[in-house]
Amino acid sequence: MEAGTKKLVILGAAESGVGAALLGKQKGWDVFVSDGRTIKENFKKELEAQGIAYEEGGHTEEKVLAADCLVKSPGIPEKAPIMKKIRATNIEVCSEIEFGYRYKGDSKIIGITGSNGKSTTTKLTWHILKTAGYDVAMVGNIGYSFARQIYEKPCEWYVIEISSFQLDDIIHFRPDVAVLLNITPDHLDRYDYKFENYVASKFRIAQNQLPSDVFIVNEDDEVITSYLTTHNTHAKTVYFTMDENNIHNEGAYSKGDFLHINYGGEEMKQSIHDLTIKGKHNQYNSMAAGISGRVAGIRHEKLRESFESFEGLEHRIEYVATVRGVDFVNDSKGTNLNSVWFALESMKKPVVLILGGQDKGNDYKAILDLVQEKVKAIVCMGVDNEPIISFFQDYVNDIVETKSAKDAVLAGYSLADKGDVVLLSPGCASFDLFKNYEDRGTQFKEAVRNL
Ligand code: ADP
Repeated sequence: MEAGTKKLVILGAAESGVGAALLGKQKGWDVFVSDGRTIKENFKKELEAQGIAYEEGGHTEEKVLAADCLVKSPGIPEKAPIMKKIRATNIEVCSEIEFGYRYKGDSKIIGITGSNGKSTTTKLTWHILKTAGYDVAMVGNIGYSFARQIYEKPCEWYVIEISSFQLDDIIHFRPDVAVLLNITPDHLDRYDYKFENYVASKFRIAQNQLPSDVFIVNEDDEVITSYLTTHNTHAKTVYFTMDENNIHNEGAYSKGDFLHINYGGEEMKQSIHDLTIKGKHNQYNSMAAGISGRVAGIRHEKLRESFESFEGLEHRIEYVATVRGVDFVNDSKGTNLNSVWFALESMKKPVVLILGGQDKGNDYKAILDLVQEKVKAIVCMGVDNEPIISFFQDYVNDIVETKSAKDAVLAGYSLADKGDVVLLSPGCASFDLFKNYEDRGTQFKEAVRNL
């Protein structure tokens, strides 16, 4: 669609919406931003500074429906009344990454999606390209919008963390390299509680790829491999796996204590002991990022240097402190059971597990084996702890209820013995008691430091 006096309406004025608004304005669109809730001060200031019209606390239908193109923020569900009205027209609706894509020029994109590990893999991939001296930005769900980056400082490479909500409204968006880490049930409330809809949404990352593009997927994920047997993708598919018997001409696998990354006719071996991020899940993330780096043309020495200098992310299996022999680990970003599983898997000591929050439809069976093997007590931290208590009461002797990070830390500490670890890996969203997962993790760390 041609810009000019055409009207661009942005629904939702947070990081991605404001990024799209700024880029749209720069490219000559007549931009209007509409948010059903209050817009944060810093975002308002940015819009005002560029003379971009906006409204908050509701949507003026005639203005919204006057759009030639509408950018929908990922937080807005299809069932929102305004979306129903928009869908009844033929207004072109797209997500912010789609809008940004139209102005990306000759740059290259590595797009990363999955249920878990997106931020870690995105940051690691960015770190690899940066270490190799590339002109690269890390954008998307990780905090800084793709559109905003193009508006402020276009780069030659973008590593984009992409959520399923962003993928739902792409049209032409085509990453040169796409990574699909894993698919486990999450956000089902947004997909009519149909897992297959969520799976299809994740696979949209590859829908526009060409044979010259690369699609990097987890071969140990049965949801992914079974989808691939019935759906065609055009890109070259490259696998990573923990199964050393499943080696392909190109791809990555783990054998003993080494990751093998094999691409472009050369293979490198990386000791898992020299990776700065620990746990099986991070070996998967490292294989995916490593292949991406190789596809981008990065040499083995630089890959190794990057793996060995990478600083992980806050709130992901983050060691906090040891208090009188008890370790405290903050995995506040563990907002679904798959990530709790990997967090438990990586623990080497008996665990007191702080679990709970806003339940998105969890089936706790998914972690039962590891709980039985490693967890000596559960501290519930949520408004409604009933699902956890009723599921685990026959398996775990000590289950206590708390409703704040401070009380959870105190309870965890009193249930733990020297040599144990108190792990916050809630498996639930944080919004019942906290602003977001960062707030939950920060309050947890603060409570630990005050012990
Ligand atoms: P995302 O951005 O997809 O939410 P993060 O990198 O922020 O992923 O990690 C979120 C949570 O998932 C953390 O608790 C982390 O320990 C766990 N995790 C990270 N990578 C993986 C993986 N490959 N598989 C399963 N869990 C993972």
